[in-house]
Amino acid sequence: SPVPDYLDEVLQACGGIQGETADYIPELAKVDPSLSAVALSTVDDAHHSAGDAKHRFTIQSMSKPFAYAVAIEHLGWDAVHAKIDVEPSGEAFNEISVDSETGRPHNAMINAGAIATAGLVGSFERFADFASRLAGRELRVDEAVYESEMGSTHRNLALAHLMAAYGIVEDPRDAVERYVRQCSLAVDVRDLSRMAATLANGGVHPETGERIMAERTTRQVLSVMATCGMYDAAGDWLSTVGIPAKSGVSGGIIGVLPGQVGVAVFSPGLDAHGNSARGVEMMRRLSDDMGMHLMNPG
Ligand code: GLN
Repeated sequence: SPVPDYLDEVLQACGGIQGETADYIPELAKVDPSLSAVALSTVDDAHHSAGDAKHRFTIQSMSKPFAYAVAIEHLGWDAVHAKIDVEPSGEAFNEISVDSETGRPHNAMINAGAIATAGLVGSFERFADFASRLAGRELRVDEAVYESEMGSTHRNLALAHLMAAYGIVEDPRDAVERYVRQCSLAVDVRDLSRMAATLANGGVHPETGERIMAERTTRQVLSVMATCGMYDAAGDWLSTVGIPAKSGVSGGIIGVLPGQVGVAVFSPGLDAHGNSARGVEMMRRLSDDMGMHLMNPG
């Protein structure tokens, strides 16, 4: 297959792009910024990867779409929508961003909405089981990153307390612990592309044929990823790359082309929006070369 050579070319072409590793979580600042990886998983269960594809990193905000899916599956759409809106905020991921009258966060892809989601999901185990089924292996928490973030998570605690004042979050400490634990699951790009492929396949796992979530749930999750997944760069992303996506401060980005493929890229250096600098460029190339933009006529 020519695909692995092509993926190597993409890594090479983007290798010169630099960014800054996140340092507000001390453990993340220690990661080697030269790491780069890419993986693709199709809805027919074909898999390709290149670069540091076995390197594990924490899932961080790429957990948000999956936690949102668990909440919708667990409680139903109306109950989730009553607490978390579906409007893009156009703001940074950690913005103190909730509706000033109701306390409702704007969407589930920024921290406020993800902390509210973690509260709704009910238990960390429910999330970890779901994510592990999608990845096809048992995912584990990186305890060093968990402890590191818990020691510096003042903004997230502030957000949770603010939402508790409005009754959106019941137990702020518990919701933040669960959210940070969810963000600390260790994955590689192959795990992420498999997870994204079930979203691409309408909720049916490409390998096992098992239905893991309702098709309607995947549509909801992908819609919010498309409008809100790249924070304050969401508009630029949708116009240049053109697929639903979600980034994380560890340097990963997942993308989903509905009906076709799940994609994951990784490189720890971030741009000014907190998205992987090299990862954004890799995704642009993949989208251009493979004609992935959803607004293409066909
Ligand atoms: N756990 C991180 C935080 O809450 C996730 C942020 C991210 O990946 N953008 O700050």
